[in-house]
Amino acid sequence: MSAERTFLAIKPDGVQRGLVGEILGRFERKGFKLVALKQLIPSRELAEQHYGVHKERPFFRGLVDFITSGPVVAMVWEGEGVIASARKLIGSTKPLEAEPGTIRGDLAVNIGRNVIHGSDGHETASFEIGLWFDIAELNDWSLSDNAWRIE
Ligand code: UDP
Ligand code: MG
Repeated sequence: MSAERTFLAIKPDGVQRGLVGEILGRFERKGFKLVALKQLIPSRELAEQHYGVHKERPFFRGLVDFITSGPVVAMVWEGEGVIASARKLIGSTKPLEAEPGTIRGDLAVNIGRNVIHGSDGHETASFEIGLWFDIAELNDWSLSDNAWRIE
């Protein structure tokens, strides 16, 4: 389908802290459509590919250690402008600088434990969706209340 999609992942801190429902609800209430969802403990290979752009950064190893340390909730959300909007709902990378009302602004303190990942553009969204999901795991479906949303 041609509708815009983004990849979001609740990191192991978000899962361990019992924030999965809270976070899913924010995207549902906003009006985006969930088209794929699974929980997995990522392999090192997957984590290293996902964060490949950061491989020369000093925090890379610790980031990969952390993201592979427990279950992650991987998701694909769909809707008009969802890539940029999800980044806004997530808030700044540094939780202490993230605005109140954003996920990181409300629920996190530490940059290394900032609860959620979101694709930062169209190219990264399609790369990350393909990295984490098989095509068959992505569901094409219509919201039954489309008339209320002007989808
Ligand atoms: N990160 C970190 N230390 C840093 C910068 C980033 O631990 O100094 C982690 C942080 O968890 C962040 C992730 O690496 O979410 C990816 O960094 P990026 O700059 O892409 O931030 P994001 O896109 O997640 O806001
Ligand atoms: Mg990023």
